[in-house]
Amino acid sequence: MLNKGNPEPRPRVLISRCLGFDNCRYNAAVVKDEFVEQLKESIEAVTVCPEVEMGLETPREPVRLVEWEGEFHLFQPATGKDYTEKMNDFLDRWFEKIPQFDGAILKSRSPSCGPGDVKVFNAFEQPGQAGKSSGFFGARLKDESGGFPIEDEGRLKNFTIREHFLTSIYTLARFRMQVCSEEDNSCLISGLVAFHQQNKMLFLAYNDPVLRELGRIVANHNRLPEKNIIDEYRNLLPELLNGPPKYSAMINSLQHAFGGFKHDLSGEEKKLFLNTLEEYRDERVPLSVPLHLLKSWAVRFDNQYLIDQTLLQPYPLELVNIYDSGKGRSSARTA
Ligand code: SF4
Repeated sequence: MLNKGNPEPRPRVLISRCLGFDNCRYNAAVVKDEFVEQLKESIEAVTVCPEVEMGLETPREPVRLVEWEGEFHLFQPATGKDYTEKMNDFLDRWFEKIPQFDGAILKSRSPSCGPGDVKVFNAFEQPGQAGKSSGFFGARLKDESGGFPIEDEGRLKNFTIREHFLTSIYTLARFRMQVCSEEDNSCLISGLVAFHQQNKMLFLAYNDPVLRELGRIVANHNRLPEKNIIDEYRNLLPELLNGPPKYSAMINSLQHAFGGFKHDLSGEEKKLFLNTLEEYRDERVPLSVPLHLLKSWAVRFDNQYLIDQTLLQPYPLELVNIYDSGKGRSSARTA
């Protein structure tokens, strides 16, 4: 960990149980996903299997999503049973006591878990495909999440989506653990001020207008009660993390950090960094390369402000090393 001021947070992530935790798929299989396997060690994983928890056995006949007369149904073609009511009862019970999550990874294309991209059929018997939607659990989670990131394991194979997901869950976990106490629900304005300070450069890369708005909230010129300030800030965070940063905004933030060394570096070092930025812009090197240069200079020149910035290491190094391949970025991020 670069910043030694705070312990590395453990994001609390909700995960479909069949993604490596249990043989609970309809055919009693388990899905081994490389990313989930790597992530398991670093997070607090909370698992759910809606089909088993609502009372179905394993193995079982598969179910599908059917849209009939404007309503979605969870239908089991082999038995002709409609499990919609049973699923909705389970969802009502489960969502009554939903804890605070920092993110979720759900099974792709599942009529129960899938957060999107789930086949929808247009009839119970001899159906055709009527499009795509979310599964029952995935749809409800999206409605009730309050904005934490929800992905499926298929989308997380994309480098940029995965990098953005990791940054988001670690940012939300830091907020949950540094600003508020879960035991008595109390929050500290001093924790919020420190959180905002440490995240400034990362947030600059994500969304400058929202960063300014967050800064206005922290400054609290209207002397609002602390709780209002913290709630307002927390409600705006998901908007900031709404999508991966654009290349141009990330480069702007990296240049900003680089500016802190303008009197310390040699001409050759400055040239090396500017060339590296160009290589990053052209997708010839991943983000970790310019970040690594900044990190080494922050340590060498004892630049504590930069050492504390989450921009330099938004999530643990072991996850960066394993997955920072640089592949697949252009499909998910704009210039
Ligand atoms: S996709 Fe969801 S409901 Fe289906 S087996 Fe996996 S965890 Fe259970």
